[in-house]
Amino acid sequence: DDRIRLSLRRIPYADGRSLLVARDISQLQRLEQVRRDFVANVSHELRTPLTVVHGYLDMIEPESLPEYEPILRELRMQSRRMTQIVEDLLTLSRLEAQQSTPDERVVMPALLESLRREAAALSQGRHEIVLERLGDMDLQGSTKDLHSAFSNLVSNAVRYTPDGGRIVLRWECDADGARLTVIDTGPGIPSQHLPRLTERFYRVSTSRSRESGGTGLGLSIVKHVLQLHQARLDIRSEVGVGSRFICVFGPERLLPARTLAEEA
Ligand code: ADP
Repeated sequence: DDRIRLSLRRIPYADGRSLLVARDISQLQRLEQVRRDFVANVSHELRTPLTVVHGYLDMIEPESLPEYEPILRELRMQSRRMTQIVEDLLTLSRLEAQQSTPDERVVMPALLESLRREAAALSQGRHEIVLERLGDMDLQGSTKDLHSAFSNLVSNAVRYTPDGGRIVLRWECDADGARLTVIDTGPGIPSQHLPRLTERFYRVSTSRSRESGGTGLGLSIVKHVLQLHQARLDIRSEVGVGSRFICVFGPERLLPARTLAEEA
């Protein structure tokens, strides 16, 4: 469209007067839209060929071609990774395009239990997994999106925490709102990386993160999902001690838990 968009900034002076600076950001916004459309289109176009490659690779039994077995396994792994990157990019495009906040009831006890099970399945007994339910409110939003955001945090905690570590999933509510926190005893993240951690493809240590099997888009998805819920992500971390990823929700996003009678 050809509407003009302005960014306004007020600079106050000590004497009470102030300066108003207006900047035309229409062109910037149009470029941003072009970038978004481009990423969405490329991801969409890559989906079909990848499905075909993936499908055919799955049809070949590596055992039937012993000399190519390592190559075939590598090809499968890489095609699976590419598919995951494309799916994550499409998720991000959808979240960016979404305008309104969903307002269904997100039943927290069920969601937390399912996250605990996911963590246990990923960890396969290599970590101590603890669920601390300190609040009994539900959230208002999209169950699917919040589930995928929280899952990302849980899977990071499991992937980056060495065997024998401890992972805590904590849900707490009070008059100020609610917090879902994922705490791990992993390697921690040096503070200079924290501000950029939710950028697409940003990684602290490229090789270690790639090996861990992620796409580098997880935290970016978390940030977008939380933004849609007017919530934010706080990250606290200490090298050698561990990390805390805290999803902070305002009181307007909380719903009193349903009683058993209401559920029946
Ligand atoms: P990835 O798919 O690489 O895990 P994410 O967006 O989920 O991508 O995370 C970005 C980077 O943040 C990771 O590559 C890793 O370096 C760092 N990171 C995320 N979670 C943790 C964690 N729990 N402990 C240590 N580092 C983490």
